[in-house]
Amino acid sequence: MTRGPTTRFAPAPTGRLHLGHLANAIYVWGFARRLGGRVLLRIEDHDRQRCRPEYEFALLDDLDRLGLGADEPSTTELRSGPSPYRQSDCGPIYAAAVEELARATDVYACDCARSTFATWREANGRAWSGPGCPGRCRKQGLELRPGLALRAALGDGEEAWDDLLLGPQSGPVSGDGDLPVRDRNGNWTYGFCVVVDDLRHGVDLAVRGRDLSGATPAQIRLARLLGRPVPPRFAHHPLVRRPDGSKLSKSDGATSIGELLDTGRSREQLFGEVVQRVGLDQAGEPVSFEEATALVGEAEAVRSTR
Ligand SMILES: [Zn+2]
Repeated sequence: MTRGPTTRFAPAPTGRLHLGHLANAIYVWGFARRLGGRVLLRIEDHDRQRCRPEYEFALLDDLDRLGLGADEPSTTELRSGPSPYRQSDCGPIYAAAVEELARATDVYACDCARSTFATWREANGRAWSGPGCPGRCRKQGLELRPGLALRAALGDGEEAWDDLLLGPQSGPVSGDGDLPVRDRNGNWTYGFCVVVDDLRHGVDLAVRGRDLSGATPAQIRLARLLGRPVPPRFAHHPLVRRPDGSKLSKSDGATSIGELLDTGRSREQLFGEVVQRVGLDQAGEPVSFEEATALVGEAEAVRSTR
């Protein structure tokens, strides 16, 4: 029997854990259980301005209160000090990965601000799309200094994948310019860290919200340039929406898991509400985490289990 996939639950501690995270957890553990795989817990705190240690501690507490334990690492291990599963502890790894990437393609400093893209859009009547950036920084050979971003030239064209929930998908690799690997504040970016981490952690199944499917082609290409010919499999699941259908955001204070539990809601009630709001079940009745994750296998087409 072949080993099941390795997937991950990878929240960013930019606020409290909310119902959207819970939906993701149900799908992550749902796929892992369905396919006989394992779940890693990763703290995606690459953005040093928005992430805070107190949010990470609250997040670990919330996971414990919900009874959600990853196969690796434990919340206790994460609380006890530096970890290979916390991005802010892994700066040298990302620096080494950039060096490796620079042997495969151009990695260049870019001084385009958001306003540079806006000005280009005004002048051209459409947003910048395709490789490069409006300032043509790749050709300029700017010296990297504070305040400048770092971009990687991933090339043109599309990448395709067979999504476990959406079916065959494809999209442009450089839809809105070359991929930033480091932002103007000196933070490694989500789109870079996630590929480096999935590679080094042996993650071969990425389960995440549909709002991230547009980032997938660039991540497949980047992984290949970093020496990963076979990308992970992907499953992009529905998002939790507000009752009026609009997108849930971190500013929805009333959706914080900790606060909802504090006000007397049970975890089973929260699991029940989430499986209803992502369309896995219509009843909205309280369910256990086991029952919620089983719905992922029953109600969604888990298409390829090879
Ligand atoms: Zn630029």
